[in-house]
Amino acid sequence: MKGFEHIEKELEEMKEQGLFRSLIPLESDQKAKVTIDGKELIQLSSNNYLGLTTHPRLKLAAVRAADEFGAGTGSVRTIAGTFTMHEEFEKMLAEFKHTEATLVLQSGFTANQAVLASLLSKEDVVISDELNHASIIDGIRLTKAARKIYKHVDMESLEEALKASKDYRTRLVVTDGVFSMDGNIAPLKEIVELCEKYDALIMVDDAHASGVLGRNGRGTVDHFDLNGRVHIQVGTLSKAVGVLGGYIASTQAVRDYIIQKGRPFLFSTSHPPTVTAACQEAIQVLLDEPELIEKLWENTRYLKAGLEKLGFDTGKSETPITPVIVGDEKKAHELSDTLKKYGVFAQGIAFPTVAKGQARVRTIVTAEHTKELLDEALAAFEKAGKELNIIS
Ligand SMILES: *Cc1c(COP(=O)(O)O)cnc(C)c1O
Repeated sequence: MKGFEHIEKELEEMKEQGLFRSLIPLESDQKAKVTIDGKELIQLSSNNYLGLTTHPRLKLAAVRAADEFGAGTGSVRTIAGTFTMHEEFEKMLAEFKHTEATLVLQSGFTANQAVLASLLSKEDVVISDELNHASIIDGIRLTKAARKIYKHVDMESLEEALKASKDYRTRLVVTDGVFSMDGNIAPLKEIVELCEKYDALIMVDDAHASGVLGRNGRGTVDHFDLNGRVHIQVGTLSKAVGVLGGYIASTQAVRDYIIQKGRPFLFSTSHPPTVTAACQEAIQVLLDEPELIEKLWENTRYLKAGLEKLGFDTGKSETPITPVIVGDEKKAHELSDTLKKYGVFAQGIAFPTVAKGQARVRTIVTAEHTKELLDEALAAFEKAGKELNIIS
């Protein structure tokens, strides 16, 4: 069809520069081994930290909910699409997170947009870590508040921004709890102390910490013992929780306000019963089976130590997100392709997702990986790394 010449040209350029991405469909469920192109591969690219995507209790909860309440809700939450299960789940989640209230949105992405676009106005300022997630950046694009960016996890830079923001009505400092490309944890205790000193509010996006850090996977606030000192927590139900959705955990007033003003909440249909029921069951599994989180961390230590012993650079990771940094963009993709040949699915990540010269293959182990699978994966890394002269 005519009319798209400008994007066709851009796509060609992306292909020439090696920046064009193709989707890689799974032919199986999302587990420690997946089928791609008819071949079984060890999955090291998912966010399915605890293996909950296929947990029998979640699947059963979803099937039962579909049977009793149907496949969809037929409305947005504010008109006719709030079911009792939505509110029951939000209460359960608030109790789990030790906050007054929670509100669930379609995704973590929309949760960030809803909070950041609606909570602040012209008299306010938002102060954001330079490496925060794209959904925070987009949320900030939608706010009328002033914006300041501080250097990644740099407390001096944050303090400067806070000092320079004294004249605003409300200062909101926003950070990822765990940074998704390097797997480092935000220095939340220091951030909280600075915010208290300068009377600023704090918002933490715990997408990669939900189900991973803190008691029973409550997140970074619980991990650092900061319950009651962080104003807004955003979390996702799409990663370790294994289903889909995002939530805001905060005060009742914040919940009420987002219900009135949060555009993704107001203008997009609510989660189907299967999603809500499976999420509810997932939180119950976090409470009942803390051994899943222990296994996740045991596997994390094992794979990280194995990669480091082989001579790979795993950067500053402190979580199950373990990058294998190779630097060169082309080489990162070659490593990923070679790993695939040897039975491992670990995606290459390059500019613009990470800085130029910082290209990498990112791995995320799950609680479902066995020692044997991790040994197989390490053997594949060794072969591929030597073949490409990344390690000797
Ligand atoms: C993945 C992610 C999100 C988006 O969550 P979804 O539920 O997948 O939309 C938001 N913030 C961060 C930091 C993330 O890593």
